[in-house]
Amino acid sequence: MSDYPLFAKLSGRPVLLVGGGHVAERKAEALLKAGARLQVVAQQLSPQMAGWQQQGRLEYLGGEFQAGQLAKVFLAVAATDDAELNRRVFQAAEAAGKFCNSVDDLDNCSFIVPAVIDRHPLKIAVSSSGSAPVLARLWRQKIETLLPQHTGRTAALAGRWRAAVKQKIKSLTERRKFWEQLFHHDQTFEHYMASGNEAAAEALLQQRLESHHNQAQGEVVLVGAGPGDAGLLTLNALQAMQAADVVLYDALVSPEILDLVRRDAEKVSVGKRAGAHQVQQGETNRLLVEYARKGKRVVRLKGGDPFVFGRGGEECQVLVKAGIPFRIVPGVTAGLGATAYAGIPLTHRDYAQTALFVTGHCRPDGDKLRWQTLARGNQTLVVYMGTIKAEEISRELIAHGRAADTPVAVISQGTQPGQSVRTGILQDLAALAADAPSPALIVIGEVVKLRDELQWFRV
Ligand code: SAH
Repeated sequence: MSDYPLFAKLSGRPVLLVGGGHVAERKAEALLKAGARLQVVAQQLSPQMAGWQQQGRLEYLGGEFQAGQLAKVFLAVAATDDAELNRRVFQAAEAAGKFCNSVDDLDNCSFIVPAVIDRHPLKIAVSSSGSAPVLARLWRQKIETLLPQHTGRTAALAGRWRAAVKQKIKSLTERRKFWEQLFHHDQTFEHYMASGNEAAAEALLQQRLESHHNQAQGEVVLVGAGPGDAGLLTLNALQAMQAADVVLYDALVSPEILDLVRRDAEKVSVGKRAGAHQVQQGETNRLLVEYARKGKRVVRLKGGDPFVFGRGGEECQVLVKAGIPFRIVPGVTAGLGATAYAGIPLTHRDYAQTALFVTGHCRPDGDKLRWQTLARGNQTLVVYMGTIKAEEISRELIAHGRAADTPVAVISQGTQPGQSVRTGILQDLAALAADAPSPALIVIGEVVKLRDELQWFRV
């Protein structure tokens, strides 16, 4: 049977606590914080609890537990080091129809106390239904680090404005958007809250509310999805993906990442890999503008980083022209992600002081100067979309002075479960790249040798 989660209002309500040691003290502290009228049965009270008794914060009922003590209370907590006594308290509570928690004894509990992240008035409770309290605690810690301390104050402030916002913004969806925009995307508001300037935050909220017109204004977020491993997404990327109404995604975006998009969002596949059927860039641009004009929150999800060989710049230009607000969330580009997962550092004091990201997709047109620059020693060349041009790249680099035995690597599906890496020398690059699974990245330079030593990601 699954537990029913609830938050109990104990303020002013009598609660029986059996036990007076350290564990009981912790329970007492939490119960007092919730405003419970605490009645304690214990052979002896800890110094802290004795202090609370003197301050009149708890009532001491003596050392003997009796079932009759349960009559008036709402719930009971058994926190002694005597398992038999705890069990007796629980059984008496069952007979009296009261909720009871016996510390660390799941069989003798009718309620359990979750691990709590407290940002009053915001509270998050984590429970493993008693089966793995340590796991629940670990999750609490993780969530704890995600929630800035001022989240509680933000929640309290929102609480004060809830009615006014409801009054002004009639539609539920619009209200959700208003709050999401304020909490997640309004950097100024966030800054005021983080720095404790609540008055300014409140003034800003008022201003946002006044200027809110009920007609929706869409926006586009260009999000870099990274090279494939979902763990490489940024927190901003994840937030945008979970707030989206529509997601336009490229073929390069891994299924694992698409799974993290808000379930109700419309997902539209746009780019296909070069060669295959392809939604034209013009069509993608048109869709971006169209969805945003309908008031949708559009996420344009792109492989790697949107501004690295991703046409992100062109898409932004279209948005500027159409007067549509946009934001950009950078991503880990393949040149950083795939090389790191292949154990190839881009620079190294002994081998490379420069790293160049180039695309194999443009027409080099025998540009002599460009080849001379690319063929320089002591640098790492990272070639995107280069496999089809591998033969030409290898020939020209050698012709312009790069040693024919310069180490090279072809990294396919970098950071993904199917990652494969082929290594060899520059003069054999065409053969290495010939049937490499796509997407594939070419790396040229002495640093490739370090892979033998640094290889760590095994699939
Ligand atoms: N904006 C993307 C690049 C798009 S161009 C980024 O920043 O990564 C597409 C090229 O990127 C592919 O042809 C390939 O060369 C490279 N690429 C993208 N993802 C890759 C991956 N997971 N492994 C290897 N190469 C990748």
